[in-house]
Amino acid sequence: MKAIKFHKTGGPEVIQYEDITLDAPGPGEVRLRHTAIGVNYLDTYYRSGAYPLPLPSGLGSEAAGVVEAVGEGVTTLKVGDRVAYGAGPIGSYSQARNMPANRLSKLPDTISDETAAAMMLKGMTVRYLLRETYKVKAGETILWHAVAGGVGLIAVQWAKYLGVRVIGTTSSPEKAALAKSMGCDEVINYTSENVAERVRELTDGKGVPVVYDGVGQATLNASLDSLSPFGLLVNFGSASGPVTGFDTGILAAKGSLYLTRPGLNTYVDSDEALQANVADLFDVVGSGDVRIEVNQTYPLADAVKAHQDLEGRKTTGSTILLP
Ligand code: NDP
Repeated sequence: MKAIKFHKTGGPEVIQYEDITLDAPGPGEVRLRHTAIGVNYLDTYYRSGAYPLPLPSGLGSEAAGVVEAVGEGVTTLKVGDRVAYGAGPIGSYSQARNMPANRLSKLPDTISDETAAAMMLKGMTVRYLLRETYKVKAGETILWHAVAGGVGLIAVQWAKYLGVRVIGTTSSPEKAALAKSMGCDEVINYTSENVAERVRELTDGKGVPVVYDGVGQATLNASLDSLSPFGLLVNFGSASGPVTGFDTGILAAKGSLYLTRPGLNTYVDSDEALQANVADLFDVVGSGDVRIEVNQTYPLADAVKAHQDLEGRKTTGSTILLP
């Protein structure tokens, strides 16, 4: 059996494709044979050491697969069930693994394994960001950075489904065209345009009540300058590097703003919260209101290339690995 491991932190080259052995599933666990594996920007933070892990470590937090064996006490799943996950212990970059049964969701027939692997973590993230961190309301305008990415394309469609006007940012005309084709109302190229000025133009000078920012350091100032008074900056990721040394006085100076740094795990900590979030995701994808764009597929053995392309800004939508 093969799995991705890394023994030291660093660039994509630290990723190793190795032989592993798997114990029988322990109490409360099932053994899962993966059929498709999701790649997330989050995985690069673990690999680079930005989010420290004990080494050597596996990688990956999102996948779909089939239950091959059940451990003691597992009553909710049986051998042969199709399942998927996007939260729980790291290690999805593998042909098979053991997982706590309570972190898995049974897949409906309407959702393929590839789609599930491409959306569980990203889709649950979009769901909590739009419906819990800041509860968007129909008719509002929001700003979402890196809108052509995996999380971004799901966010555009889900926000449109909720009646929201979406201003997105991205780095190229091709990515802007893709975001527009998925429903994004306005797209700003943040490598060549002044984002805050454009947002003011597009909102009659008012700014937006919320900015969703997974880019981090590079977009911090533009995000703050795009908000209306009392607006909320949701700094949910750091694709360009983390925000550090933040002077909270800026929030007062720019209009009594709010800043939050949320993480998915807090929002799906209980099994009830996890399954409620997943149920909403399955609803919007099953109904066709949100389409999951799997735009890159690599063999598991080529995870190095998948990380190079993701960090090189060469990808759009979701990326999956096939074991
Ligand atoms: P994406 O597919 O969005 O890929 C990252 C994108 O970020 C790139 O395609 C690129 O788009 C943009 N980007 C901007 N600056 C840089 C840079 N310097 N280097 C590389 N990319 C850059 O990734 P995901 O969909 O997997 O994740 C999106 C964000 O959401 C990440 O920050 C991730 O950490 C975060 N996240 C947070 C979670 C949470 O709960 N807090 C959970 C899941 C994801 P462009 O070319 O358009 O600029």
